[in-house]
Amino acid sequence: MEQQGYYGAFGGSFIPEILVPAFAELNEHFEQIKQDSAFWQSYLSMLADFSGRPTPLTYAEGLTKHYGKARIYIKREDLNHSGAHKINNALGQGLLAKRMNKTRVIAETGAGQHGVATAIVAAKLGLNATIYMGREDMERQYANVFWMKRYGAEVVPVDYGSRTLKDAINEALRDWVSSFEHTHYLLGTASGAHPFPSIVAYFQSIIGKEAKEQIMQAANRLPDRVYACVGGGSNALGVFQAFMPHPEVELIGVEAGGKGMASGLHASRIAYGQGTTGIAQGYKTLFLQNKDGQMRDTYSIAAGLDYTGVSPILADLAEQGRVRFEAATDVEVIDALKLIMTKEGLVPALESTHAFAGAFREIEQTTNQEIVIINMSGRGDKDIFNIAEGLQDDEWTAFIARKNEQYANATS
Ligand SMILES: *Cc1c(COP(=O)(O)O)cnc(C)c1O
Repeated sequence: MEQQGYYGAFGGSFIPEILVPAFAELNEHFEQIKQDSAFWQSYLSMLADFSGRPTPLTYAEGLTKHYGKARIYIKREDLNHSGAHKINNALGQGLLAKRMNKTRVIAETGAGQHGVATAIVAAKLGLNATIYMGREDMERQYANVFWMKRYGAEVVPVDYGSRTLKDAINEALRDWVSSFEHTHYLLGTASGAHPFPSIVAYFQSIIGKEAKEQIMQAANRLPDRVYACVGGGSNALGVFQAFMPHPEVELIGVEAGGKGMASGLHASRIAYGQGTTGIAQGYKTLFLQNKDGQMRDTYSIAAGLDYTGVSPILADLAEQGRVRFEAATDVEVIDALKLIMTKEGLVPALESTHAFAGAFREIEQTTNQEIVIINMSGRGDKDIFNIAEGLQDDEWTAFIARKNEQYANATS
């Protein structure tokens, strides 16, 4: 038998025996829906109706003029309901859960964005939702905890390990062991045990399908380069897949370079060449780990890119040379953000800004005959605390201090 669920040397399914039936059921239904055009149609109409798809492909006239090189187009995933691409996957898996007659979904969340998308979809589809989140992450991203609860989800703090994403994943799997008869595990990125990388990539493929049609409409030809940021890998695979059959289209994944390669404070598994093959969290991929297989601490200005593993599908595409990997540092990201806001009137999420920073760094290599697409995976106005901190905005800091004082007075 071919090694099932492998993408080249990566992927697989390293799960406890007790979860084998849960994964088998999921595999079976995923194989069915892929053959079922009515399911895909119901997915598309729900995305149109609820999330505002198709999202536009915006010509970035200001940036294009600024550089005087390739024509830059921006795929606007920020215009989705909830402000990012994560809802594409959450909605798809929500519909899949309904089809499997599940009444409840569980999810892990790091920065909280996937938790919010899952809570929204659960409310919309009438499913119960439990979200696992490390205590440390809850402290750092309380606004998202607030929203998850308001949408009716139960948020369970995880109080062991480093109290971050990997511990939340372990806890969600532990829940699933005793609940899979009525519960679907709605995993948030194109990682984890097979078939999750394929499922998430499948639902996110809508991004590239639209972008390809839109660039053909706008320019009557394919782009020369497509840039996307890479955390777990879902928005990148989402936009890349449609262009994969066209070798003339260069695909570039941009990781979080943090404070630079030498600092060790980053989340670049591939571009900096520091990820090594390992098996953790149910799958085999390139992880940032020490020699004993202990996961290293990662760092990024963008919480959503702060992850030790990477999609096994992308690890394989990197090895094949089909996707090139780069990393953008915090400094480059902040500079890019300022430029995008003033030249385009857009505010990308800090995650998405990595894709822009990667593209800007290489724009001199292009000519004005070429076309570049940048995937704007989400919007930044919901990250106002992080962006104000990144921009070191003193007036904002003073405003928060005044607010704090008001709250302190009101509660004393
Ligand atoms: C979560 C998130 C990411 C990173 O996740 P991927 O699975 O790599 O796409 C990127 N951008 C935004 C806006 C996010 O919310």
